[in-house]
Amino acid sequence: MLGVRVDDVTYNEALERCVAFIQSGARRYVVTPNPEFIILAQRDAAFRAILNRADLSIPDGGGLLLAARLFGERLREPVRGTDLCYGLVDLAPAHGWRVFLLGAAPGVAAAAGEALRRRVPRLALAGTFAGDGSPAGDEATLAAVRRGGRCDLLLVAYGAGKQERWIERNLRHVDAGLAIGVGGVLDFMSGRVRRAPAVVRRAGLDWLFRLAVQPRRIKRQGTTIPPFLALTLLEAVRRRSRGR
Ligand code: UDP
Repeated sequence: MLGVRVDDVTYNEALERCVAFIQSGARRYVVTPNPEFIILAQRDAAFRAILNRADLSIPDGGGLLLAARLFGERLREPVRGTDLCYGLVDLAPAHGWRVFLLGAAPGVAAAAGEALRRRVPRLALAGTFAGDGSPAGDEATLAAVRRGGRCDLLLVAYGAGKQERWIERNLRHVDAGLAIGVGGVLDFMSGRVRRAPAVVRRAGLDWLFRLAVQPRRIKRQGTTIPPFLALTLLEAVRRRSRGR
């Protein structure tokens, strides 16, 4: 997808792969690209390389499915990072996994932890920490994750780009199984931001819903969605003329 690897996995396949990653015990990471990731990756080769080295890259939303269709390829279904995280957290007690929530605004990771404990009463939370996702914050975030002991699932919420760079710099220094760059997932889990209802998600309009509940995102979406559409259309035309 415009230089970024996106795996054609269904939700169930993605969940199975993540379970296997955690069970393997080795450090793995999953990325959750959407159009914003693709645009950032056009301008930032280092970010693109981090995405392409991921153990799994899920198609997080309808934008990527639409682009794939225009390229004459097929992604079977959108796999939303939020659903994948909930799915893994739900499985955690049965497997004895410990979960750490890192990132988001102060208080959000802790609130997400409380909400998850209500949802999954036997959940073993290794810890929660907001911290600062830039290199200056590494010492404190590493100390916080290490204080929690072994964590099997590490959800990192510092926004597109920053969270993947955090994982690239720091995953090797913590005792973690699987790390996922999760974007706004802790905001949803904590209840601070309302998630689009399932019917809106199925229609592929969750981005519009999110814009309605978080209008300040319009500036960012305004700088990513139009270039994503333009690049996608250009690439689609290029592929078609090559195919002729
Ligand atoms: N975030 C953060 N530090 C940053 C940028 C973002 O902790 O420097 C958090 C933000 O509070 C939110 C999450 O990262 O919980 C995802 O942010 P964003 O709104 O960019 O969501 P996305 O579009 O990536 O889902």
